[in-house]
Amino acid sequence: MYDIIIIGAGPAGLTAAIYARRAAKTVLVLEASSYGGQIINTPDIENYPVAAHISGFEFATNVYNQAVALGAEIKFEKALEIKNGDEKTVVTPRGEYASKAVIIATGSKNRKLGVEGEDMLVGRGISYCATCDGAFFRNKKVAVAGGGNTALEDALYLSDIAETVYLIHRRDSFRGEAATAEKLREKPNVKLVLNSVIKKLGYDKRLTGVTVENKLGEQTELEVSGLFVAVGRIPETDSFNALADTDASGYFASSENCKTKTDGIFVAGDVRSKDVRQLVTATADGAVAATEAVKYLNS
Ligand code: NAP
Repeated sequence: MYDIIIIGAGPAGLTAAIYARRAAKTVLVLEASSYGGQIINTPDIENYPVAAHISGFEFATNVYNQAVALGAEIKFEKALEIKNGDEKTVVTPRGEYASKAVIIATGSKNRKLGVEGEDMLVGRGISYCATCDGAFFRNKKVAVAGGGNTALEDALYLSDIAETVYLIHRRDSFRGEAATAEKLREKPNVKLVLNSVIKKLGYDKRLTGVTVENKLGEQTELEVSGLFVAVGRIPETDSFNALADTDASGYFASSENCKTKTDGIFVAGDVRSKDVRQLVTATADGAVAATEAVKYLNS
């Protein structure tokens, strides 16, 4: 029996582990894939206090090592279900783990563009991770779809590798940070394709191009061998929906104290409904959720 099981080893979950261990609680972190969450794909973090520049991989590895050094146990198993009672039981493909409290910090997954051929072309020109796959497109023409921080940072990263980067966004202003957008505008090999959506993918075993349509209905074909899709995320709530309410966008509804409608179940990080979804708010959530879980255990 653990005091706290944390589901998800991203910045929120690992920060929760650090705070729970420092409060002398026993902690198991369950992670379905690799530690770090989505930040591990960010090439350069510039907006986290203290470090002017740090890669997502280095950030995630530091937090992971800090949690492990403090005594958090980490198992790479996917949490499939939480059986709720006075005692919580988390079910994975390998077994069942009991705890007194659970923090759900499962984050979110990539949203797809929804254009015909997208699934088939993943790994054949389509990618959801510029830092993972950008090197395959050295001196080639690529496109990035989206207008949030991920799309802007991906386009900036790719501009140092690819010959040309088309940044295709459905509006004429960006959701992502103005400072990054400004840097992109200064890059001669970045072409902004605004007020436009991707209507069609061209392919012949691999991606050969995209057809974009602007708001006037005019279509243009862009010859590219890579398309990096960065059109947002979908919260990973499905397995635990019975335990916590969700907002209109599907994120777990919870106030700033990270509590849910179920006693002893807390939510933290990108999976939680919030206005500012940033690394700094994910780690802050981890601290808050663990502190509330400790209060719950001590009450
Ligand atoms: P996001 O902020 O939700 O942006 C998604 C973008 O994709 C938006 O520009 C949106 O357009 C566009 N979009 C959505 N659905 C589309 C569709 N079907 N077709 C075409 N375009 C579509 O997602 P994100 O960039 O992945 O970022 C997720 C969160 O992580 C954000 O809160 C972001 O700030 C944060 N993040 C932070 C950092 C950092 O702190 N360094 C780095 C990366 C991400 P509209 O703008 O028109 O809605």
